[in-house]
Amino acid sequence: MADREVLVLLACDTDQDRESFGGCSDAKREECSWRGVGEGIPLFNDRFRGMTDPYGGPLRVLWFIRSDEQMEEMGGDPAWPFRKFSKRLSELESFGDEIGWHVHLWRWNDAVGGWYAEVDDRPWIEKCIRKGYSAIPERWRPTSVKSGWGFQTYRTLALLGELGLKVDLSCIPDAHNISYTKQGLKVDVQDWRGSPTLPYLPHKKDHKKAGGEEALSIWEVPNATFRYKNLNVAGRFVRNMIPYRGGKLVSPRIVVKKRGSAAAGGSIELFRRACDEVFSSAGKGGISVFSIYFHPDCLLVDSSSGLYENRDNLAANLECIGTVSKRTGVPFRFLTGKELVAKLGATE
Ligand SMILES: [Zn+2]
Repeated sequence: MADREVLVLLACDTDQDRESFGGCSDAKREECSWRGVGEGIPLFNDRFRGMTDPYGGPLRVLWFIRSDEQMEEMGGDPAWPFRKFSKRLSELESFGDEIGWHVHLWRWNDAVGGWYAEVDDRPWIEKCIRKGYSAIPERWRPTSVKSGWGFQTYRTLALLGELGLKVDLSCIPDAHNISYTKQGLKVDVQDWRGSPTLPYLPHKKDHKKAGGEEALSIWEVPNATFRYKNLNVAGRFVRNMIPYRGGKLVSPRIVVKKRGSAAAGGSIELFRRACDEVFSSAGKGGISVFSIYFHPDCLLVDSSSGLYENRDNLAANLECIGTVSKRTGVPFRFLTGKELVAKLGATE
């Protein structure tokens, strides 16, 4: 490996279409629309497959496919997306992409008629993960995993390692959702305060720090983040996290977020900031990884939609990687999770 090099991991959280992208709301229990996969992925292939890294290597994508209880309730089988989209997944694999597993802990709440992210009921969480994993067809048994809403604990990571997963891409350094309730549904998910920003083997009793002698067997690869320049920008994100019930504030709190996740289909300015940071610090200790992600429904819309994530932003952001690489003189390499694990193993 070159002395200074950035390894680019482009992930896709292959979910159903979100409400703002023409999909369904969290209050819908039945199967909803998957146009992002059906129509968005072909658009992705048409537009981006010609891209290469400076070594001539093709663009690689880690497609994280759902298998969990919500999928079971919506489609009768936790892993139905693997089966239904199997032909498409084989095609993606033929481009050199990797098929991984995207596990959400959405649990239905009858009392309020909606899904919520279960983060407290440990037996349920373990069952959801075990069942989701074992339902995945042998052909698609994953090496790489990415959780919904960036939720992990040392317990879930230990279980994923035990099941045979080698790398998790859920960590968003500094991300922390404060506890809040929405119509009675608890939604308190990520806690990655103080986590490393480079790949690490998490501690057996703390997913947020490297384990050393007490490490789990699964690698954690933190997402690329940008630094907020001022509190005004942070404030916009924080407002959504303020506790409220039935649309009314219950106990407003000020939370200062220092960093945010660089969305591959999101803001061009914030993405460039994250990109600059990784490329300018490449080679200064450890393997440099630029782990970014998008959702397939963002491929359905362009910048005229006014939506935060869209395919034009994705195009500009992918191009930005090449531009920053040239400016800093640091080459980059498109990589899959499996390949990253092999590289990390070799440097241990
Ligand atoms: Zn998701």
